[in-house]
Amino acid sequence: MTSDLPCGPAALAALDPRLPSPLEELRDERFARRGLRLLLKRDDLIHPELPGNKWRKLEPNLGAAASGRHTLFTFGGAYSNHLRATAAAGRLLGLATVGVVRGEELADRPLNPSLARCAADGMRLLFVDRATYRRKAEPEVLARVTAQAGLAADDCLVVPEGGSNAAAARGCAGLGQELRGAADVVGVACGTGGTLAGLAAGLAEGQRAVGFPVLKGGFLEAEVERLQTEAFGGRRGDWHLDDRFHGGGYARTNPELTAFAEDFTARHGLPLERLYVAKALHGLTTLAEEGAFARGMTVVAVVTGAPPSPSGV
Ligand SMILES: *Cc1c(COP(=O)(O)O)cnc(C)c1O
Repeated sequence: MTSDLPCGPAALAALDPRLPSPLEELRDERFARRGLRLLLKRDDLIHPELPGNKWRKLEPNLGAAASGRHTLFTFGGAYSNHLRATAAAGRLLGLATVGVVRGEELADRPLNPSLARCAADGMRLLFVDRATYRRKAEPEVLARVTAQAGLAADDCLVVPEGGSNAAAARGCAGLGQELRGAADVVGVACGTGGTLAGLAAGLAEGQRAVGFPVLKGGFLEAEVERLQTEAFGGRRGDWHLDDRFHGGGYARTNPELTAFAEDFTARHGLPLERLYVAKALHGLTTLAEEGAFARGMTVVAVVTGAPPSPSGV
């Protein structure tokens, strides 16, 4: 019975995720003036340690881990929310976790708060140079890196960077399904694009999704299509990307974005996660002000995560 294993369905249910996640209306002048309703889809409240899309993406992958692979093996940058969520899942479910971190030089420095949290949750951190990191999907490179951790690739459930694979995209279809009948347009921030891939596939006819990439580069359109094809057999749903709101790139910001996020918190009393959520809300608010949405529409912003708590965890 898979349910006896640490990450079987019973163990996952015992984590008590809050699903469907709450949908909250906000009164925001910039939307109201144009006859629009603004709702927040509070995926950040799904689980205190596996918030948002990280729960939706990890849950189906953890189901796969129940089939005998006892180590979750994954990848991320030095501030990766995905690494933190994977480490927390490992602690909560009694699974070993290994995080391969981009940047060999980080091995000689004190851990930043995000990586320190991963280590405290029992994640083994492995620092690799950027060339190796880029080639991590190649079987021989993967075999070398797992061997470096003292593991055989077959013992590991390998979850790609950001947690996005076909199972993750199928998990995120639940987000779209929860929003059927409740939204005309749904905006979400994109890192690897797995959340948008699933969201768009889960929405009903007539609903559309807008993705706001937080990285520069314009590679995401093809990536979302690839994930949809792997997960669902082809491009699904009505979605597009708006590339104007990355604020300079991953973990970058600019004065306009910072001012937007501070003003949003002052208006609504809600601190915004800055790497992703602030960029999505900035994008949706700008589109509303540009008149991109017809009067009477309901606009939903997905709050995919929460800001780090003041204690730094
Ligand atoms: C990881 C993350 C995302 C990006 O999700 P993708 O599926 O990689 O596009 C968005 N928001 C938050 C808060 C995240 O942690």
